[in-house]
Amino acid sequence: MVEKPEGQRVLVIAPHPDDDVIGCGGTIRLHRRLGHSVFILYLSDGERGIKNMNPIKTAELRRVEAVRSSGHLDVPEENLFHLHLRDGDIINQSGTNYDFRSILEKANPDIIYLPSFCETHRDHYAANILLKNNLVRGATIAAYEVWTPLIPNRLVNISSVIDDKRNALLEHASQLKELDYLDAALSLNRYRAAMFRKEPRYAEAFIYCTSVQYFELMMSVE
Ligand SMILES: [Zn+2]
Repeated sequence: MVEKPEGQRVLVIAPHPDDDVIGCGGTIRLHRRLGHSVFILYLSDGERGIKNMNPIKTAELRRVEAVRSSGHLDVPEENLFHLHLRDGDIINQSGTNYDFRSILEKANPDIIYLPSFCETHRDHYAANILLKNNLVRGATIAAYEVWTPLIPNRLVNISSVIDDKRNALLEHASQLKELDYLDAALSLNRYRAAMFRKEPRYAEAFIYCTSVQYFELMMSVE
């Protein structure tokens, strides 16, 4: 369990707007509190995330939600990147991607957060393939959990920023309307901290290692 996440330059990869907040919103807030620079890269606009709404309108709405949500985590709008990959089909766009590489170069991260390769959601898994195919320089990887719990080797105490995380999640109103995951997400954070008697009350869980170790692990369990 750590109180202060390490890394001065942070890149968070989110297949859809809201994955970042569910998986590591509290940790993002802690990075900002420590004065670290945080960039968030949305791989898709999540344009298929609202039933019966046209994809262009959905994408617009979700971009607005992402900006508001990131505000609660103290990440400014200019630090949000959008790659505009097709929602639901990231696996077929996970080869060499020069836009992705140039964002990596610009963010120049010493730590990269992304959904873990354990995720059963295909876009979340695909984010791992995309990074593997385009990561030129080594970095520390912190893989987070969204829909599939992982086996963590690092927990971050987010008790002090849980209200910011809750408020950030609430901004994704269009998604909460589709599936009310607010309690589930925060309950998983509660569960991660449950074995500690006093503080912390909430924790986020990660697979935390070098990029070389991470992708070796990923290939070894396939
Ligand atoms: Zn997602």
